[in-house]
Amino acid sequence: MLKIQTLSSGSAGNITYIGSATTGILVDVGLPLSMTLKLMSQANIDPHSITGLVITHEHSDHIKGVADFVTQYNIPIYCYNRCAKVLRRNLKLPPHHFIETESNFYIGDINVNCFPVPHDSQFCLGYTFHYNNLSVGIATDIGQMTDIILANLATCQIVVIESNHDVQKLMANPKYPDWLKRRILGNHGHLSNLDCGRAIAKLHQANVSQIILAHLSEKNNTPTLAYQTVKQYLQTQGITEGKDIFIDVALQSQIGNCYCLE
Ligand SMILES: [Zn+2]
Ligand SMILES: [Zn+2]
Repeated sequence: MLKIQTLSSGSAGNITYIGSATTGILVDVGLPLSMTLKLMSQANIDPHSITGLVITHEHSDHIKGVADFVTQYNIPIYCYNRCAKVLRRNLKLPPHHFIETESNFYIGDINVNCFPVPHDSQFCLGYTFHYNNLSVGIATDIGQMTDIILANLATCQIVVIESNHDVQKLMANPKYPDWLKRRILGNHGHLSNLDCGRAIAKLHQANVSQIILAHLSEKNNTPTLAYQTVKQYLQTQGITEGKDIFIDVALQSQIGNCYCLE
């Protein structure tokens, strides 16, 4: 059994739960501890069942609650040594909280694989999680889609993927200065709804059956807009949402659906 559930997703904070019968993992803790525990309680996830954290990158919407969580539950952060260096400095955590990993490692009975994602942080990783022949993957904060990301996500049945913004909505947003628009649209920023749709069309060829659109901008996107843009693009490629592939949208302010592969 392998479960995946987003607890919060978007530019204001990100937490995703991955679990087998005996192992619980959080990917990023981008909200304060109290809010994280509230969301876990709503999802019926016992925080004592969490065996370790894995972190995508050091931006605050991914690490805000990390230090408090690992201190409270005395669990490790599994990460690359470059990642550990930045987190140690930023979070002021003692070294015993870090387990430096290679690209492929185990947390309990879940095999974890990580891969590089282009983004304007010290490092940014996507992850796939494997239990027997069951696999789920997550990649957000994607400046541009790459063959490496696609090849890794293509090994999964369920994929959480960034659908950050609608390009027209972003360009028309008077509150965003030009430099910020350039950053978001650039090769180390975030993935647009349309580019997400293009990636999903490729993942469909690899038998990914369930997609969860994630890391939506609250200012430059809406869940309906992301869903419709992706759905319409897939239609132009002869792929029908709800039949050939299923699309869900992860929200910022409420826990997502829990998906369980058996
Ligand atoms: Zn980021
Ligand atoms: Zn982010």
